Amino acid sequence: MRLLLVEDNVALADELVPLLQRNGYAVDWLVDGRDAAVQASDNPYDIIVLDLGLPGRDGIEVLQQWRASALSTAVLVLTARDSWADRIEGLKAGADDYLTKPFHPEELVLRLQALVRRTHSVANQSVLDAGGIRLDEARQCASVGGAPVQLTGSEFQMLRYFMLHPGSLLSRSHLAEHLYDNERERDSNVIEVHINRLRRKLGRGVIETRRGQGYCFRGTAE
Ligand code: CA
Repeated sequence: MRLLLVEDNVALADELVPLLQRNGYAVDWLVDGRDAAVQASDNPYDIIVLDLGLPGRDGIEVLQQWRASALSTAVLVLTARDSWADRIEGLKAGADDYLTKPFHPEELVLRLQALVRRTHSVANQSVLDAGGIRLDEARQCASVGGAPVQLTGSEFQMLRYFMLHPGSLLSRSHLAEHLYDNERERDSNVIEVHINRLRRKLGRGVIETRRGQGYCFRGTAE
């Protein structure tokens, strides 16, 4: 899942980026409001974390521009001031959730999980359930018929994305765009490798290949 973090507090970003990566997000981090306005329009982010007080351009203005251009990506706003006026302004500008600084980083992770589920109309529970597979996001492990299946971070990230889009045809380039940040090399062979590992662990039919088109999550259900 691609995540854009827009935050000019370097110490905070240094803390958040690795935490978000450990939780299975491919993170791009920007400091400047003007850069953020452009970058979110050019890249298919699944979720955005936006600070309001930014150099270059105010976060509220950036958010208003995104919504005016019909960008529908879920946005969680960070506000430094514990002011109701800021929060109201953020929500009116099109924010989906907000968090007041200082916050516990783990709270951000939980809020993002809840926001992603809401965006994908998944019931708000701690375990994702699709196609006969249960995926525990906190522990990053799966289970099939009650039997636990250990996953690497990359496998978890990929399986979560598939489980949030069951039955959808996802091309390799779509997967690469949503699973890897701008720094990492988007080698489509890597995607193939991870898909094959997931099949070995969960069953061959879990992810169907459609020649020349992409992949489709089928789950383990017969
Ligand atoms: Ca700031």
